[in-house]
Amino acid sequence: MKRERTSSRGRGLWIAVTAAALMTGFGTASAQDKAPAGATMAPAQTSSDSKDIRLYGFSSGALTLGKGALVNFAPMEPTITVPVGFYVVKHPKGNILFDTGNNDKLITDPNWWGKANAAMKPAMTPEVAIDVQLKKIGLTPDDIAYVVPSHLHLDHGGNVGKFPNSTIVVQKSELMNALWPAPGTGNSYVIGDILPLRSSESTYPNAQKMVLLEGDLDLYGDGSIMIKRWVAHTPGSQMMVVKLKNRGPTILTGDNVYFRENVEKNIPPNLVLAYNPQGFFTAFEWIRTMMATEKADFFTAHDPDAFKAMKKAPEYYD
Ligand SMILES: [Zn+2]
Repeated sequence: MKRERTSSRGRGLWIAVTAAALMTGFGTASAQDKAPAGATMAPAQTSSDSKDIRLYGFSSGALTLGKGALVNFAPMEPTITVPVGFYVVKHPKGNILFDTGNNDKLITDPNWWGKANAAMKPAMTPEVAIDVQLKKIGLTPDDIAYVVPSHLHLDHGGNVGKFPNSTIVVQKSELMNALWPAPGTGNSYVIGDILPLRSSESTYPNAQKMVLLEGDLDLYGDGSIMIKRWVAHTPGSQMMVVKLKNRGPTILTGDNVYFRENVEKNIPPNLVLAYNPQGFFTAFEWIRTMMATEKADFFTAHDPDAFKAMKKAPEYYD
């Protein structure tokens, strides 16, 4: 297991400069590897051939809960069953895993989540283990170059520790909050999910390569994969835009959006789940703007109807 001290030294990583770059499209200028944010800009690299970029959708089992737990003023009864979406991008410059689902330990240990288990009733079978699912598209965990958790809650960062040879790309504030939560925000983190990222040696804190972001990242420096910090659901939530040739820019929202209606009707989530309520509304507005101006679309993690309609791996979007 290779250890690196500094978060911003990932190979081939380019730091995106401004949020405006993402707002106005792709092919943005980006700062070169190792340059601090705000340093002299280098021209964008040649674009990835977006015809070779494929997006695969999966679910890490199911949760059963009241819709009102997710959407403000929605009913708590009858309960609904929602997917736990995660995504893989096959990319010529390195495959990316966006979110990691529920910890596979739940398959054999229903107490892994403690009290959250009763609240969300996760249903997991051996077939949904993340390595079993990656096999459907011919990948092993070692074929994942970058793991990008939208945030580190138990149903998104659950398996983040199962990719020791990948680079983890996470907002620094999210990692800090997962390990030492701000008052009122700790319920949905399972510390055992996160601990594999921490080195047992005292010299370097990270057990594997990590990029600790404090903003946005143009992952390959060519606009094909944009990681966008957006503080809403949690202190370090991030969304990811995948530039697909046929489908167009596709925004993976994590829990900044639960259901399509949040964006389409401007409906807030249950505010108990909002670290920064205003952040949801600006996120919804940004997504609507991207849809109107860039022909973008979006996928969430927990929308049962959208998930049903979505292609599932091994089918893909390109
Ligand atoms: Zn969450």
